[in-house]
Amino acid sequence: MTLGTTAACATPRRSTEPLARTRIVPLGTAGGPTLLDPARAGVSTAIVHADRIYLVDLGLGAYQRLVQSGIAPGLANGDLLENVRGIFFTHLHSDHIADWPALYVTGVSNAIGRTAPPIQVWGPGVRPTLPRVFPPGRPQPPVFEPGDPGPGTVGMTSHLRQAFATDINDRSRDSALAGPDTLFEVHDIDLAGIWTPDLDGEPPRLSAPIHIWQDGDVTITATLVDHHPTAPAFAYRFDTPDGSIVISGDTTVSKNLIDLAHDTDYLVHEVIDAQFAEQVVAHLPPDKAAPMREHLLSAHTTIEQVGAQVAQAARARNLVLSHLVPANNPIARWKLAQQGYSGRLVIGNDLDALNVGVSA
Ligand SMILES: [Zn+2]
Ligand SMILES: [Zn+2]
Repeated sequence: MTLGTTAACATPRRSTEPLARTRIVPLGTAGGPTLLDPARAGVSTAIVHADRIYLVDLGLGAYQRLVQSGIAPGLANGDLLENVRGIFFTHLHSDHIADWPALYVTGVSNAIGRTAPPIQVWGPGVRPTLPRVFPPGRPQPPVFEPGDPGPGTVGMTSHLRQAFATDINDRSRDSALAGPDTLFEVHDIDLAGIWTPDLDGEPPRLSAPIHIWQDGDVTITATLVDHHPTAPAFAYRFDTPDGSIVISGDTTVSKNLIDLAHDTDYLVHEVIDAQFAEQVVAHLPPDKAAPMREHLLSAHTTIEQVGAQVAQAARARNLVLSHLVPANNPIARWKLAQQGYSGRLVIGNDLDALNVGVSA
């Protein structure tokens, strides 16, 4: 298949602008589990406010990007995670969580001397049902791990503890390193009274955002986005004294997301090139082409939609494209998102620094 040409930047670059107190640092801007471009790590976004860091998703390579980013002053002292306050998973697809196992098991070795509170980790809870099979009528594929086929964030992390028990026990007995339980407090986002995900996974319109965490002067809220049939899938909003930032996660055009992003300073939104999706499915046999096309174009947001139908509708002042599918698309394709959008369009690059507000 033709996947387009490699993006203009061969290596990640850092911004040379003076840094504001609050900023967005895309650690990884590639979407999907297929690796296409050395200049783009798997999707992850850091929000820096004063001496605090919040991480949204941890795609493949994001952990190393955190090392490279320069936003973690404790690096040289073995305390890379010193300023990390929270980690937020939008959903549990592998391209959003692949570096969580690495960070989880090596975390205590990169938080040496930490006096800050444990890192708060949030994400989806247990999926109560498996998603529907597409197209309708296709034979049911085998269920992987039928005893626990849809673990949430807490369950997944519990499995990691089990998988890495050899290392954790070795280091606690030999080197007196505390285990990951002391560093991370993991939470499933409680949807009781809000929604029970069903086979189709299309969330209801919410009348108000979901409150996640008030961390000093930073307020973190979330909403349910439409990444059907994957559910629940969340977008997060960070309100700081310097401005607001919304991270879409994976979603098709979502009214809940538009509500959450209303009048926001920065909307960091996923995007897919529909032309790429058509190229991919054109090379697949019909029984595989239909499900792939359905996922790519019904569960994600196209270039034509993201500016005109999402950012413009939300009145977002800045639209930052991330979770780029395909990651190696020509930049000119992404620039088409400006059509129908009157705000500022930014094509996200790994390790850029986007200042929020004017405080230094
Ligand atoms: Zn994704
Ligand atoms: Zn996804």
